[in-house]
Amino acid sequence: MKSPINVYLATSTSCNVMCKTCPVGRKEAEPGGIMSIDMLRRILTKCTDEARVIGVQLYHYNEPLLLPQMAEMVRVCHEFKLPVFLSSNLVIFKNGPAVLAEAPEILLISVSGWTQAIYERSHKGGDIEKVKANMEEVAKLRKPGTHVQVSWHRYKYNEHEMPLMEAFSNKLGFTFVPYATSLLPQDRAMRVWETGIDDPSGEDVLLPVKAAKDLCYSRRHWDCLLQDQIVAVNGQGMLLNCSNRSDDENLRGSLFDTTLPKFLKGRKVDPACTKCRSVGAHVYSLQAYTRAEWSPVRLAEVAYRRLKLAGRFPAFTAWTNRTFYRISRPQQKETL
Ligand code: SF4
Repeated sequence: MKSPINVYLATSTSCNVMCKTCPVGRKEAEPGGIMSIDMLRRILTKCTDEARVIGVQLYHYNEPLLLPQMAEMVRVCHEFKLPVFLSSNLVIFKNGPAVLAEAPEILLISVSGWTQAIYERSHKGGDIEKVKANMEEVAKLRKPGTHVQVSWHRYKYNEHEMPLMEAFSNKLGFTFVPYATSLLPQDRAMRVWETGIDDPSGEDVLLPVKAAKDLCYSRRHWDCLLQDQIVAVNGQGMLLNCSNRSDDENLRGSLFDTTLPKFLKGRKVDPACTKCRSVGAHVYSLQAYTRAEWSPVRLAEVAYRRLKLAGRFPAFTAWTNRTFYRISRPQQKETL
């Protein structure tokens, strides 16, 4: 039986905004460059031959709307009958109308403020008034098949502006999902835990990185969704071991020199994964450390994943993807 996978594609290594919790925002080196349409076709052909592809994420920390060929990329995924996930800061919308005309299944809009002063503390280099104007364009242009979700990054300093963006999003007919952002990738959190030295990039996260250490450790036996189900590939067709990382050391050779079953099996014993799981850093990377250790919802989610139901029934899969995204991340400090 083919394994269900989500394919995450680093369609480029660039973003126009510099969020300090994000490696591309911090301008850390990421190998790969821009993905060509030919490479996209080769990747999708190989992945659909060897696995059950649930969906394709056409970004990996990069800003997808910067790419002139993004509309064509969405079209190619649809030729393979695969749903498309996009996430944009929506500051630059030049390619937006063409992309929306292709009706990507999910468009996330990442924001962290209502006023410029609050917004640019995280989304440095962005312009919230342009984002709001572009949100209105999205509301006008999107087709019924595109689910739009506003992902509000919760930080220590922006709680008071959240209701304003929530009301605006609701008025436009978008789903509003706030979640507490973490310091990514998880290696930086591991460094804080090992050395006891704070990382300035994590200074604004709602739950201090150090405070997440014990919560993650007590959940270290949890499955890692990224290890089990996510296959990330860069613009040169190189496999990333962990979809949360973007550095050279994380590369595991060409997708075209191996098979996906072999890659997925090998990752179970990859030394980087073993180290990560030994301290529960995968729980940090999944931003799931404030979830209850046991709950019926979590048990249902674990069963759904272990039974490999994802991708079997497209409408049900789309619903579970949206639901698990919303419930699996730390939503509120008060849930601790
Ligand atoms: S175990 Fe850690 S390093 Fe491996 S895929 Fe999961 S989060 Fe990434």
